[in-house]
Order: sequence, then C-alpha cells, then structure tokens
Amino acid sequence: MGGSSPCASCKLLRRRCAKDCIFAPYFPSDDPHKFAIVHKVFGASNVSKMLQEIPVHQRADAVSSLVYEANARIRDPVYGCVGAISYLQSQVSQLQMQLAVAQAEMLCIQMQQEPSLPTQLDDEDQKSLLLASNNFNSMPQFLSFSSSSNIVMQEPLKKESLWT
Ligand SMILES: [Zn+2]
Repeated sequence: MGGSSPCASCKLLRRRCAKDCIFAPYFPSDDPHKFAIVHKVFGASNVSKMLQEIPVHQRADAVSSLVYEANARIRDPVYGCVGAISYLQSQVSQLQMQLAVAQAEMLCIQMQQEPSLPTQLDDEDQKSLLLASNNFNSMPQFLSFSSSSNIVMQEPLKKESLWT
C-alpha cells in the first residue's frame, strides 16, 4: 500500500497515503464506501484518534463495528444501533411468550388425551400419559372435563389469534 495507490481514506481526504497510514490496513481503495460512511458519521479525525487509542490487534474489529454503527445511524438517525437492538430484544421476548403459550397448549392437549383411545405416541409419551391418567382417576372433576374434549380441545386454538 505505497504512495502510488492511496487507501480509500486518503483518496477521499485528498491527501498523500503515508507508509504508516493508520487507515490503510482497514480501508482498501477498492471499497471507498466503507470509509465514506464512517467519515460521514464519525469524522475522519475521530476515527483516526479512536484507532490510535486501541491496540493494533483490536483495530480490525473496531473498524467493522464502526462501519456497522455508521450504517445503522444512516438508516435510523435517531436510534442507530439501539433501534436494531431493542427491535431484536422485543422479538426475543415475543418469541419466548409464544413458546410458553405453545408449551402450555401441549400440556393441555397431553392432559386431555384419553388413555383408552388408540394413539400413535411413542413410549415416553405413553408413560407420561399413564401417569397423567392415574392422577385423573383421583380427580373426578377432571374426568368429566375431558369427556367433553371437543370443546376443550378447541380452546387453545383461539390463542393463535394473538399472534396474527
Ligand atoms: Zn491512507
């Protein structure tokens, strides 16, 4: 990366690319947009200062983080990266709720299965089914509840409308 072909930063800043140019290893001349966006958001002198303050082996990671943050700031001038983070966090908690609802529905359906019905469950499911039915025998309320299984079975499906 000699003086003959300046790095993307020096090209944009219209200056001579020195042998020890701090930008040269991270902003190659074939990717001018990468430096342009970082320069636009953070300013070249700030980027230079930041790079000088951190050890050489961490500079590549710092640059890719700066590029990511600059892109996020362009897309979302108010929140930048924070917008993406909070969007993903809300998605995670929404999916966790969906998972909890699905697991509760699974439990409900498992408990409503009647042991006399021919089932295609594997051994483990049948064991838990037997355990569950043993518990039901001592609970007459539950037995009469599961006899009207048509109504009960449909109830969990209504919850799906929450997520559509
Ligand atoms: Zn340079």
